[in-house]
Amino acid sequence: MLDGARGLAKGFWTTLRHAAQPPLTVPYPEVKRRLPPAFRGRHRLYRHEDGLERCIGCELCAAACPSSAIYVQAADNDPAHPVSTGERYAAIYEINMIRCIFCGFCEEACPVDAIRLGPEYELADFDRATFVYTKQMLLEPEKYAPRRQYHADVDQQDPQLRREIPDDLDLGEVYRTHRPLGAPITAPPDQTHHPLA
Ligand code: SF4
Ligand code: SF4
Repeated sequence: MLDGARGLAKGFWTTLRHAAQPPLTVPYPEVKRRLPPAFRGRHRLYRHEDGLERCIGCELCAAACPSSAIYVQAADNDPAHPVSTGERYAAIYEINMIRCIFCGFCEEACPVDAIRLGPEYELADFDRATFVYTKQMLLEPEKYAPRRQYHADVDQQDPQLRREIPDDLDLGEVYRTHRPLGAPITAPPDQTHHPLA
């Protein structure tokens, strides 16, 4: 009898003790947790500061993707009106997000830092076709992503955590200058100039 009462009191005490503590759960979606900087959500394609696309259509991301989620069709740049800083650009760039496993291999493989996985994770939708992200959707999700798949409070969650890509860290200098790898440099590299402009 005494043991029973002691057990009952202990149980009540445990309940009371936890009732006074703040809840550990987050009332999502009203409250969204801050994501770690290395979180890998929806991809973005990036441009250079002058507006030219970073992607040079090399297809390395597609080759690295273990899910065959990326499709790239490259085309030659028109020297008078280049789209990217390379000889070629991605005329078609698509990611099938139903296949994607958010491994980040595509951003690792990209030689010009054109693609990065960002913080957006609210990507649910009802229609299969809306999960094939086009180049425009990846370049400007604010404008072109389906409304159900774009959330400014997630995508822009913490500007401090979003990694800007300074041009001087770009590994794609060879593509901007059209020099074969290992060829001698005949003029000092100019970050603001590219030969197709
Ligand atoms: S994150 Fe991984 S699975 Fe998704 S597109 Fe990139 S390489 Fe493919
Ligand atoms: S995103 Fe990068 S790796 Fe993929 S095609 Fe464009 S330049 Fe090549």
